Amino acid sequence: MNTNQMEQLAIRGGEKTVKATFPWPIYDETEVEAVANVVRSGQWGNPDCADLVARFEEQFAAYCGSKYAITCVNGSVSLRMALMACGLRPGDEVIVPPYTFIATASVVLEINCVPVFVDIDPQTYNLDPSKIEAAITSRTKAIVPVHFAGLACDMDAILDIARRYNLRVIEDAAHAHGAEYNGRKLGTFGDAGSFSFQSSKNLTSGEGGIVITDSDELYETINSLRNVGRLPHGQWYDHFNPGCNYRITQLQAVLLSEQLKRLDEQTRVRDENGLYLNSLLATIAGVVPLSRGDVAMRHCYHLYIFKYDKAAFANLPRKTFVEMLSAEGVPCSAGYPHPLYKQPVFQQKNFMCYAIPDSVDYTQVSCPEAERACAHEAVWIFQHAMLGTKADIESFAQAIRKIQLAVARE
Ligand SMILES: *Cc1c(COP(=O)(O)O)cnc(C)c1O
Repeated sequence: MNTNQMEQLAIRGGEKTVKATFPWPIYDETEVEAVANVVRSGQWGNPDCADLVARFEEQFAAYCGSKYAITCVNGSVSLRMALMACGLRPGDEVIVPPYTFIATASVVLEINCVPVFVDIDPQTYNLDPSKIEAAITSRTKAIVPVHFAGLACDMDAILDIARRYNLRVIEDAAHAHGAEYNGRKLGTFGDAGSFSFQSSKNLTSGEGGIVITDSDELYETINSLRNVGRLPHGQWYDHFNPGCNYRITQLQAVLLSEQLKRLDEQTRVRDENGLYLNSLLATIAGVVPLSRGDVAMRHCYHLYIFKYDKAAFANLPRKTFVEMLSAEGVPCSAGYPHPLYKQPVFQQKNFMCYAIPDSVDYTQVSCPEAERACAHEAVWIFQHAMLGTKADIESFAQAIRKIQLAVARE
């Protein structure tokens, strides 16, 4: 191959920089056998049998260092049940970040409460604690910090505010399985922590979710909510709470038990690769990784995010940069096109049956940091690519450098 072919961008027919592909999910015959055994047993789920579900819940609680874990159908329902169990009333306000998946805010609507958007810290893309207090009113009852991309929120600052204003804290840890802050697993800092097991997440069974908590009271309520409002020692047709059937199957549970055995090593690899990629990007102008701060942490890189500055790329728009980087073989995207409050559901107040006060108006909301991240700054590399080798990680940096040189020549 001559130099020209090497310099030619893959999007224009040149050679791809990244040779590897990155499978996800990762499994072998162990998972296949585990699921097959459940199939053969005929013990697929309630009411006959839920011992394997209970076993996974114990395993996940032990892994996180929490007292209880309650599985459910997905990471939206887990978050909603955790909020419901906190005793929020219609019209109560819940502080959420605008740079996250829609579920973080839509589950607040679903319990007839009002999502209040507080901007992100431009260094981390997580909820900015210095902006929280200004958003607190007499109706504020809870904060939902999202450990976005698997990077821990500033929990010391958030818990301090929560204590002073008597607010509940429910961590949305949908990106954060196995990640740590000051040596402790994320999801264990607030009243409860919520995780998703949807296919893209760092621990998956295709779909699924879980809540972890140390609170006996929250555990009992959430356990009842996910099981049609039943109580553990009540009758099958006795319903005490307004829950639905949010249970998972034994097939999912055994898959999760096997996948959990892989999680810690996968998290170690992603964290190490993330630190390595940080060091490589430090030598390239116009690409700045999000900050890990000064606190000891274990980042699980559900996403590896860096800030793109087109000025260092001959004013190449981020959209084109991401197309070029994808063509070079880096699994990446530009992420969310808008902060959540710009979504039609909020702008047009399509609240359907939900009892959101008329005075709520999302057209007036402005979170400039989240808007900039969405409009032209953020670039996401997906978690499965962060499981590659050192050489693969080097090829990501090479691909960025190749684009930079190519656009500078034009
Ligand atoms: C995926 C996700 C959820 C919801 O999880 P589902 O299992 O898809 O319902 C909630 N919050 C965040 C930040 C997520 O990324």
